[in-house]
Amino acid sequence: MGKECNIGQNVVVGPDVSVGDNCKIQNNVSVYKGVTLEDEVFCGPSMVFTNVFNPRAAIRRMDEARPTLVRKGASLGANCTIVCGVTIGQYAFVGAGAVVTKDVPNHALVVGNPARQTGWMCECGEKLNDDMVCPVCKKDYHWLAPREKRDVVFVDLAAQQEKIRPLIEANIQAVLKHGRYIMGPEVKQLEGQLSEFAGVKHCISCSSGTDALIMALMACGIGPGDAVFTSPFTFVASAEAVRLVGAVPVFVDIDPDTFNISVEKLETAVREFKKGPQAGLVPRAIIPVDLFGLPCDYDRINRVAKDNGLVVIEDAAQSFGAEYKGRMAGGLGDIGCTSFFPAKPLGCYGDGGAVFTNSDEMAETLVSIYDGVRLRLRVTGYCGYWGIK
Ligand SMILES: *Cc1c(COP(=O)(O)O)cnc(C)c1O
Repeated sequence: MGKECNIGQNVVVGPDVSVGDNCKIQNNVSVYKGVTLEDEVFCGPSMVFTNVFNPRAAIRRMDEARPTLVRKGASLGANCTIVCGVTIGQYAFVGAGAVVTKDVPNHALVVGNPARQTGWMCECGEKLNDDMVCPVCKKDYHWLAPREKRDVVFVDLAAQQEKIRPLIEANIQAVLKHGRYIMGPEVKQLEGQLSEFAGVKHCISCSSGTDALIMALMACGIGPGDAVFTSPFTFVASAEAVRLVGAVPVFVDIDPDTFNISVEKLETAVREFKKGPQAGLVPRAIIPVDLFGLPCDYDRINRVAKDNGLVVIEDAAQSFGAEYKGRMAGGLGDIGCTSFFPAKPLGCYGDGGAVFTNSDEMAETLVSIYDGVRLRLRVTGYCGYWGIK
């Protein structure tokens, strides 16, 4: 017997029975040999544990007793019958009078004879809503539903949000109250935390991953007449940003094993340009894209860039949090760009992005561009600003 158990009148506890802490066994319950109750199990009045599956008065079967396990926190309603050999899952709920003939999953609500599952129960004893959330304590159990019944949510920010909701709501209230809606103190705080996380000296936040790429290109003075090597297998923004500053994207095919830009093909493309500028373009930068969370081969890409006087602008929109040889994505090239679009590894509730660099000079330029981007690009549109049709 565990500690702090509450045993009613006319209760029998047989030999080889294990009862956990804080169990409540109501009147007229017989807990026979082979039954194990974990902690906090509730046995309603007059409920029955059987210990022989198919008894005959004339046949001795006591040595065929099948063990029954009732997991932590489960409740067995008044007058229910638990056929021996089953396991009742954690926090499961057996309705009054039910006859349980097979295992009951964790948190399941079962009723009737034979008992069938009609819903799910919260730890607090309330029935969950269809969305698997407790109507009373708001706990989210969507992970409980069987895989085939579970909606596979592509971007499940709601589940994340549930865990940190009080913090989010308090912070939104704080911003509404202090009223510094543009570049308020939270922005500096976020930039500090992002740069610490990515292990890069400077972080300049902005309104999207696309803007991050545009700002990085602008900070490098890349514009009309310039060529930028990038991957053709990426979200459109990697190349779009190049066009939006007036430069020309030069597509270098991917490595079939990683789906990231092929370094061999990059070397070839750069060599072609060295023979003589292609279409009068000057190669200026490489935008490797860390696709699906997998960083590119930066040791080799940075070497190609260094040998050829190119800047490496890492498109880390899909890889924030990923590591490459002990370094974090965002800090693998000269400038790193990431996105906080909801579907990205670090999704926000809206659009967002950030640029990273270890260079003080570059950071200063990025900050001044940031102000310019907000003032000018927003008003006139990117294309208008650069005079591009
Ligand atoms: C999403 C994405 C971007 C653009 O980010 P936004 O925040 O949507 O503008 C750029 N590059 C890649 C590889 C992306 O996946």
